[in-house]
Amino acid sequence: MIKDCITVWDNCLRTIRRNVNTQSFKTWFEPIKPVRLDRNALIIQVPNKFFYEWLEEHYVALLKMTIRQELGEQGKLEYQILMSNNQEKSGDMSIKVPVERGAATAAKSVTGPGAVDTGNIKNPFVIPGIRKLQIDPQLNPSYTFDNFIEGDCNRLARSAGQAVAKKPGGTAFNPLVIFGDVGLGKTHLAQAIGNQVLRSLDSKTVLYVSSEKFTNQIIQSIKNNAVNDFVNFYQLVDVLIVDDIQFLANKQKTQEIFFHIFNQLHQHGKQIILTSDRPPKDLDGMEERLISRFKWGLSADLQAPDLETRMAILEAKMTQEGLDLPQNVTEFICYNIKNNIRELEGVLISLVAQSTLNEREIDIALAKQVIKNFVTQMSKEITVEFIQKLVAEHFDLPVDKLKGQTRKRQIVIARQLSMYLAKNLTNKSLKAIGENFGGRDHSTVIYSCKAVQDLLDTDMIFKDTVSELEKKIKMTLNEV
Ligand code: ADP
Ligand code: MG
Repeated sequence: MIKDCITVWDNCLRTIRRNVNTQSFKTWFEPIKPVRLDRNALIIQVPNKFFYEWLEEHYVALLKMTIRQELGEQGKLEYQILMSNNQEKSGDMSIKVPVERGAATAAKSVTGPGAVDTGNIKNPFVIPGIRKLQIDPQLNPSYTFDNFIEGDCNRLARSAGQAVAKKPGGTAFNPLVIFGDVGLGKTHLAQAIGNQVLRSLDSKTVLYVSSEKFTNQIIQSIKNNAVNDFVNFYQLVDVLIVDDIQFLANKQKTQEIFFHIFNQLHQHGKQIILTSDRPPKDLDGMEERLISRFKWGLSADLQAPDLETRMAILEAKMTQEGLDLPQNVTEFICYNIKNNIRELEGVLISLVAQSTLNEREIDIALAKQVIKNFVTQMSKEITVEFIQKLVAEHFDLPVDKLKGQTRKRQIVIARQLSMYLAKNLTNKSLKAIGENFGGRDHSTVIYSCKAVQDLLDTDMIFKDTVSELEKKIKMTLNEV
């Protein structure tokens, strides 16, 4: 039986539909028209060259698979690009893309005079002629609010994010700027907002773009004389998420275009969500007028999570991955990885990998080994300085006070406790310990240890504090 192009393409679509989400299918595959079948080549028509590039960039593997399925190993796919005046150009214009080759080589196979030079144009998602905009939001669906664990470190940002997700463009948080150090969840939170909007507000168009990609698109659109298309496209978005805007620093042209897009969106009540590794006011190399706009809405920071939040995140991650680690190991990890949640996850994954590969049980010793790769500074033993640092942190005092002469009760207790812990947890002599406390003599250290012991015998709350501190000191790898 001779196959016709419509049947072949219909079969392809059936496979494709199973492999992409509905929105992508509608956006990128429904508009394609099968044109003809030329021996083992299927010729399809796409609305424009961006469309073609998008397909090649994102769906080449899928297309290859489906074409082979329908037309056999020799199967080929060729594209025809519909020109803007809706006139299909002559055969010369079609871009022949042997499906065996990837997107990179596809451009080279452009043939014939007047062929469309697809060069390295990156698709800025433009789909001219489609009135109701359908775009791939570029979101990672696994970043949700459900798995974004709440803690003091992120409460404001998280709840602002939820408010924005409920009413994009309809709150005072516009733009919403989420800032914080690397690995603290900026991308996760920003994408969670986008995913939530898509889930609950069907009609909204969401687009996530990294600043890098955004910049590249601008460069390309300038090259291709398509800046207007670019700007117009972005104006059709209801919720625009631009990640890591610090990368826009010193990129004047990009900032200018972004300024324009920002204004248009804001004026039309569209939601803008930005992330940055620093607060807007510290964005050097950013135009003042942009910074001032960033301050229009809400800037909410993500801070390093406290121990409890780290534990909760790690446990959530374990449940998600179906992992089970001994409690002392998870505690050990969380004591030592403090400032970066990505590292926390990294340690967990390496630990599981190490244990599987080497058929070793997951215990503290293995955790120590793995963590060494993540923690840069390490010393071998518990030092007096380290004890002083942790005690001072615990009592919220500057370390100097422990070494000074102040007789305030709170400080005296912290000082005596540090000496007590130093005596019990280090090998230092009483004399050496005393020297670390502003040159006190050994009898002061003995007296302090006795005072602490008396308190331990009488004050349960104090006792708890001390054992918590002891545990923390012993648990912290940096100084073990
Ligand atoms: P950033 O963009 O700030 O560098 P990411 O958003 O990429 O950080 O987060 C790093 C990793 O930590 C991601 O895997 C993310 O899912 C996870 N993560 C961050 N914050 C949380 C949180 N509060 N709850 C659960 N996972 C989190
Ligand atoms: Mg990020």
